[in-house]
Amino acid sequence: MSRRADSSAYTGRQPLSGQFDCLELLAKLQERKKHMTNLPSGKVEELRVGFKGEILLPSDGDYDSARQIWNAMIQKRPAVIARCATTSDVVRAVNFARDNHLLLAIRGGGHNIAGNAVCDDGLMIDLSKMKAAQVDPVARRVTIEGGATLADLDAATQAHGLATPVGINSTTGIAGLTLGGGFGWLSRKYGLTVDNLESAEVVTAAGEVVRASATERPDLFWALRGGGGNFGVVTRFEFRLHPVGPDVLSGLIVYPISEAKSVLQQYREFMARAPEELNVWTVLRKAPPLPFLPERFHGQEMIALALIYAGDPKEGQALVEPLRKFGTPLGEHVGVQPYVAWQQTFDPLLTPGTRNYWKSHNFTTLQDGLFDVVVEYVGKLPSPQCEIFFGAIDGATMRPATDSMAYAQRDAKFVMNFHGRWEDQADDERCIGWSRDFFKATAPFSSGGVYVNFMTAEETDRVRSAYGPNYDRLVQVKGKYDPDNLFRMNQNISPA
Ligand SMILES: Cc1cc2nc3c(=O)[nH]c(=O)nc-3n(C[C@H](O)[C@H](O)[C@H](O)COP(=O)(O)OP(=O)(O)OC[C@H]3O[C@@H](n4cnc5c(N)ncnc54)[C@H](O)[C@@H]3O)c2cc1C
Repeated sequence: MSRRADSSAYTGRQPLSGQFDCLELLAKLQERKKHMTNLPSGKVEELRVGFKGEILLPSDGDYDSARQIWNAMIQKRPAVIARCATTSDVVRAVNFARDNHLLLAIRGGGHNIAGNAVCDDGLMIDLSKMKAAQVDPVARRVTIEGGATLADLDAATQAHGLATPVGINSTTGIAGLTLGGGFGWLSRKYGLTVDNLESAEVVTAAGEVVRASATERPDLFWALRGGGGNFGVVTRFEFRLHPVGPDVLSGLIVYPISEAKSVLQQYREFMARAPEELNVWTVLRKAPPLPFLPERFHGQEMIALALIYAGDPKEGQALVEPLRKFGTPLGEHVGVQPYVAWQQTFDPLLTPGTRNYWKSHNFTTLQDGLFDVVVEYVGKLPSPQCEIFFGAIDGATMRPATDSMAYAQRDAKFVMNFHGRWEDQADDERCIGWSRDFFKATAPFSSGGVYVNFMTAEETDRVRSAYGPNYDRLVQVKGKYDPDNLFRMNQNISPA
């Protein structure tokens, strides 16, 4: 018998609809309390002993800010937040969650759209204090802790004129990005982030600290490179580095939406011949108040080419010239600037604390029919912050064999991500509806593949397409390292 029926039987009256809400709320609170009381009193004190970081409970002042992640639609309340400072803190937290049968979530940078970095009632491992980086400029290697952001990584490596390919928003966590694959401006030349991973330090479900590399636990190393957070908590990554910048030719060229189809067609032809040092992504949205755009274009739909030449800026000048002739630009801002500045260019448009719902497709080719749908949907953007991104991820990302590591989307030349993004909860249905309709309308043109890091929590039916032909091998590795599925707050691979 439900709690609602229970209480009306007790009072002998039919509850009014307002009472329904109160009773439902009470039932939820009792349910939550039940979970929390699963944690015997005094247990949290055990976790505190020897813990170098902070343990936060719902009654603590920092708790509410610590449970917030990038996507404001996700509002979950863990029973305990273990803000780790060291690998041994992570070991303690993993052992504690396992031994007390607590749901376990891992927060790297907290950016993942699905919101798996935080859980209700369980334990959240928060790595945001673990950001230390060490660069060996001679060997061209960096080791960096699992709570670092892309900005932390770029700052450390660019001090030596070095970089490894990562994403385009500097507040993203290196951990979640790497474990799903990772791509950005440098990927056409230097591959995915995982293609540059040399080794990882991992805390397993058994609470052991192990190293994974080509020669140490190669099965785990294979699975970490694209299999998400399914196999353990990565406390340290080691990446190969490449000479980049520190100054690069980069910037934006903006065209009116009336020229979008023709710009996209020329973009497709241009990218097929562009050298791998040059990367260009396209963004379609309502124009933000960019200082180089005349005010009358602010708020108008537009298509922007975002470009970077990762070689000698002087050589890049001639190579980017054709991009200025795709139509009649509304404005441009292209010049030589520090690579770290370019890495942060999109940060103001992708700030945390806003409601977000994303959908994504991979493409092996871009067809004209797709462009027609894109232009139609840009015409009905449901909020000024929504946008459609085409990222070029061909070149070096396509060279490794599909089974060389867990990341399976080696045929993808372009990834399209539509950021449904808005402020007000009242707009949820309209904005989510736009993303879903656009997703359906563009699906016939896609490869059927998807990037695991762009999937929402509800897309469990796409998990197999994301891991592709590598899924069965991932299941085996999962069975070996996490047979009880302790690490299940992710795009989950169920153990065999
Ligand atoms: C604004 C924005 C821009 C983006 N741009 C790009 C881009 O250009 N390129 C790109 O490739 N991706 C991009 N992404 C996607 C991004 O790669 C994923 O959202 C990624 O999961 C973020 O990692 P995180 O550590 O910040 O996220 P979190 O939410 O903290 O973590 C995501 C998941 O990864 C796992 N995890 C996190 N840390 C660890 C760890 N230390 N050990 C084990 N598992 C862990 C957990 O399962 C967790 O649920 C972007 C995302 C956003 C929001």
